[in-house]
Amino acid sequence: MNRIYFDHNATTPVLDEVFDAMVPFLKDQWGNPSSIHWAGRGTRKAVEDARESVSALLNCTPIELIFTSSGTEGDNHAIKGLAYAQKNKGNHIITTKVEHPAVLSTCKHLQKEGFEVTYLDVDKDGLISLDELKAAITPKTILISVMYANNETGVLFPIKEIGQIAKEKGVAFHTDAVQAAGKIKIDVADLNVDLMTISGHKLYAPKGVGALFIKRGTRLVPLVHGGHQERNRRGGTENVAGIVAMGKASGIAIRDMEKETEHLKTLKERLEKGMTERVPHIKINGHPDKRLPNTANISFEFVEGESLLLNLDMKGIAASSGSACTSGSLEPSHVLVSMGLTHELSHGSVRFSLGKSNTVQEIDYLLEIMPPIVERMRSMSPLYAGAK
Ligand SMILES: *Cc1c(COP(=O)(O)O)cnc(C)c1O
Repeated sequence: MNRIYFDHNATTPVLDEVFDAMVPFLKDQWGNPSSIHWAGRGTRKAVEDARESVSALLNCTPIELIFTSSGTEGDNHAIKGLAYAQKNKGNHIITTKVEHPAVLSTCKHLQKEGFEVTYLDVDKDGLISLDELKAAITPKTILISVMYANNETGVLFPIKEIGQIAKEKGVAFHTDAVQAAGKIKIDVADLNVDLMTISGHKLYAPKGVGALFIKRGTRLVPLVHGGHQERNRRGGTENVAGIVAMGKASGIAIRDMEKETEHLKTLKERLEKGMTERVPHIKINGHPDKRLPNTANISFEFVEGESLLLNLDMKGIAASSGSACTSGSLEPSHVLVSMGLTHELSHGSVRFSLGKSNTVQEIDYLLEIMPPIVERMRSMSPLYAGAK
């Protein structure tokens, strides 16, 4: 059977070039980067070279970047670390209702410790109101955390404008850029961002490695206490192979970005246009333009999304009903519900997130098999009979 992968926002395959770059550090180059002798010198250089390469992807200086074990750790470190460091200044955090669970659960946890959190609403396009953001800021506000790009819909938030507001009010600003990194150009020097999270496995490196940008002068309480690694900001002997892989993947992302964006955009537009023409009663979720080039989130009325995914899986197509972390649960997507979709429509939504290896032929195959699948599923729905 044909295997087609349309779930790149959940994770990406490791590129051959990336794999080749990391392999030596799983075997022959096994030294501890903290050792001053011959065994450690090579791995130290590899870690620092990778740091330069990842820094270039964000346009920060290498000193401002620490390696982590994941995007989740980066979000935890940024939010808890900042909150604990500034708790004498204030206890109020502002975020949005549509963040990744790595941000939402961290904020929920901090609420139990006495912090107050404002969760901003989004409109039907999935965007926050900057006026509401401004109005939410109080003298007690210490942190704003707003994602760069939403993992379920691909909606892009106005990070530069939010950064400007945060700067004017003297409030720290964190952005979860896990979905943006590698897909669109990021320039922290231009953004007024103090903290930015990224993750390796969303940009064609393996799982288990991530990075956190910490703007020079931003004080954080460490999440992982230990040795002097990462300039005392994160203890633990470095995941050298993973870090090397992330460096390599960042270099490739920079090299191929322009061509890749074009490729993804073409495929996504073909998918959305084709689906709109062939399948009635659908809705494309998220702002029409302010979206990642690779993400199409589509609601199919009178259809149960999970069954649709199973039908697609039987045809070899991997897609998702939202974030991988919440699929398998019966709760509708918190992102789509926040955008005003009914629970029924949220349950009938599928995310197609495209990547490097996808082709026009794969999109056309999807467009060919989709109408009969949807029609068959709808024919079993009593609601559909009335709506036709
Ligand atoms: C995947 C993802 C994360 C979590 O990253 P992990 O490396 O899987 O822990 C955080 N935020 C967003 C927006 C994501 O898409």
